Amino acid sequence: MSANAALVLFSGGQDSTVCLAWALERFQRVETVGFAYGQRHSVELTQRRIVRDSIPDIVPHWADRLGPDHDISLAELGRLSETALTRETEIAMTKAGLPSTFVPGRNLLFLVYAAALAYRRGISTLVAGMCETDYSGYPDCRADTIRAQEEAIALGLDKPFKIETPLMYIDKADTWALAEELGGAPLIDLIREETHTCYLGDRTKRHDWGWGCGECPACRLRARGWQEWSSKQV
Ligand code: ZN
Repeated sequence: MSANAALVLFSGGQDSTVCLAWALERFQRVETVGFAYGQRHSVELTQRRIVRDSIPDIVPHWADRLGPDHDISLAELGRLSETALTRETEIAMTKAGLPSTFVPGRNLLFLVYAAALAYRRGISTLVAGMCETDYSGYPDCRADTIRAQEEAIALGLDKPFKIETPLMYIDKADTWALAEELGGAPLIDLIREETHTCYLGDRTKRHDWGWGCGECPACRLRARGWQEWSSKQV
């Protein structure tokens, strides 16, 4: 197992793009994995490829470090889940007090599948964009959940195993700041232009912070972080 390699859970959104840049700065070899789970909007998968193809041009040594991309199909998850990300239902709070965009078990499954892939690739570190600061009620994004799963995977594989979550304790404004620190204006521009966050899959409206409907919770969170960060820039 190589301590100098990482596998990044990469969806093509703002957070996982910053995680990919973070990993490229720290590890000699970086591979990526994406999941198809019956998302309502395949735009996410299209944008993910564009971002992945563009990121090696931003910093010269990133190109040498970026290794293969892997796809994992979890179509069963889409069929099991009755959520606003996998069905045409409204985004709202559910009776359980969670947003209807919560896909139960999704992040838990992603991490187990990614760990199985990492094991085969001789990689002992996963990098993922879970964040509890902008906690939107997703219990599988909490640091406690991640630490417990890291331990379960290490025990289950009988190998030292790490799950790095560089965004866990920072907010969306700090995520823009981290992007700037890692890849300067070119990374900021790539995130604004090509990463996709909008829950409705809308890429018809362009805002300062990128493309999206501007109204869904994901757009509002991204817009607020951008405004906070960009207002501090000269
Ligand atoms: Zn939106």
